Amino acid sequence: MRTLSITQDERKIIQSSQPIVWLNENYQNPVSASATPEVDEFYEAEARLKRCAPLLQRLFPELEPSHGLIESSLIKADRLNSKINPLGGSLFLKADHDLPVAGSIKARGGIHEVLCFAEALALKHGILENKDSDYCVLASEPARGLFSQYTVTVGSTGNLGLSIGIIGSALGFKTVVHMSSDAKQWKMERLRRRGVRVVEHNTDYGAALEAGRLEANADPNSYFIDDERSPNLFMGYAVAAKRLQAQLEALNIKVDADHPLFVYLPAGVGGAPGGITYGLKKIFNDNVHCFFAEPVQAPCMLLGMAGEPDTAPTSIYEFGLKNDTDADGLAVGTASQWVCDATRNLLSGVYTATDEQLYQQLYLLKTLENIEVEPSAAIGCLGPAMLMTEAGQKYLESHHLTHRLENSVHIPWLTGGSFVPDEEYQRYLAKAVKLST
Ligand SMILES: *Cc1c(COP(=O)(O)O)cnc(C)c1O
Repeated sequence: MRTLSITQDERKIIQSSQPIVWLNENYQNPVSASATPEVDEFYEAEARLKRCAPLLQRLFPELEPSHGLIESSLIKADRLNSKINPLGGSLFLKADHDLPVAGSIKARGGIHEVLCFAEALALKHGILENKDSDYCVLASEPARGLFSQYTVTVGSTGNLGLSIGIIGSALGFKTVVHMSSDAKQWKMERLRRRGVRVVEHNTDYGAALEAGRLEANADPNSYFIDDERSPNLFMGYAVAAKRLQAQLEALNIKVDADHPLFVYLPAGVGGAPGGITYGLKKIFNDNVHCFFAEPVQAPCMLLGMAGEPDTAPTSIYEFGLKNDTDADGLAVGTASQWVCDATRNLLSGVYTATDEQLYQQLYLLKTLENIEVEPSAAIGCLGPAMLMTEAGQKYLESHHLTHRLENSVHIPWLTGGSFVPDEEYQRYLAKAVKLST
């Protein structure tokens, strides 16, 4: 096995699928410039989403109230705070489970990347004169005629496919989604109803993605959205940090050396939590502390971040794990190497949780805050308790945070759920009740 910065004890805990808190030794260490994404692209992504807002409002009437911005609220959760946060400070939930258009965090990255492709095509073919033109022209007949000659392809455990399928078909692209075996039936049906071609694979996410890549590469008019190495997805996700900054300011919540911000991000292949971490570190620097959260059965980002720079991440299967989890949005066997390298000195650490723990958080969210999420999205709620472990305390002490906790702000990022059909959610909840009471 390759060199990983994990101890023998940590290795045993991971192999026996027990929860762990792993601290990133490379946090704040300098990394090679080649691994650092360009900050200009971060601002460009934000500007692109602004340019496209009138278009999005036209395509999706539910965006009327936000004038075409796809954004979620930041919810103060005092009751949940007193239950899950032994550290002190306040707790807010970032409500991406309720993100319009796609119902999950994938609305951010996925829609941004399809807009990048559509914009580039429209500029090349003279449908858009320049970037100051009215982007509503992308919903016109000539634009749809152009887009219909192209196929947008993606591999997904479910939610990315949903996001790409919805925006792709709305713009008139042919869309193909390669789904891994974890993907839920209802997500596939929802896409088929929109005319998306859904290819079901009997394999895990990495293999479904590879199948999509092969098929797309064989067709010159096909555009493959590559979740394993896509700066466009990553930067679409990163824009969330700018939006969060504005929301915190509007609530008069300070983030500085005396008011540390802790953010807990559910991680699959790494793009969404990685992009958000990148954006938050650009804005808040050392005053924000980002942790990824993964199922004990699929700690692929942990293994990726514990590996060496510029090398292929270790797969969970090498640790004898099975990727067997109800957190389908996080069921990924091998992390994105690109994201690992891009966030290697930004990420504070990774923690893992059992499915039982996810259901217990799902139950608390429902009973204390009346918020309905899918199991993947509940994992962030374990963040504050994670900092009470030996490793968590070590982190707080070494970063001189122990005496600042009463001013701290904690944000579990809720990443998906509002599109889950009610009978499916009721099944989750029934299981959650059983595991909680
Ligand atoms: C995809 C997904 C994530 C994680 O995003 P990655 O880019 O795969 O790391 C988290 N939660 C939900 C609900 C998701 O669908």
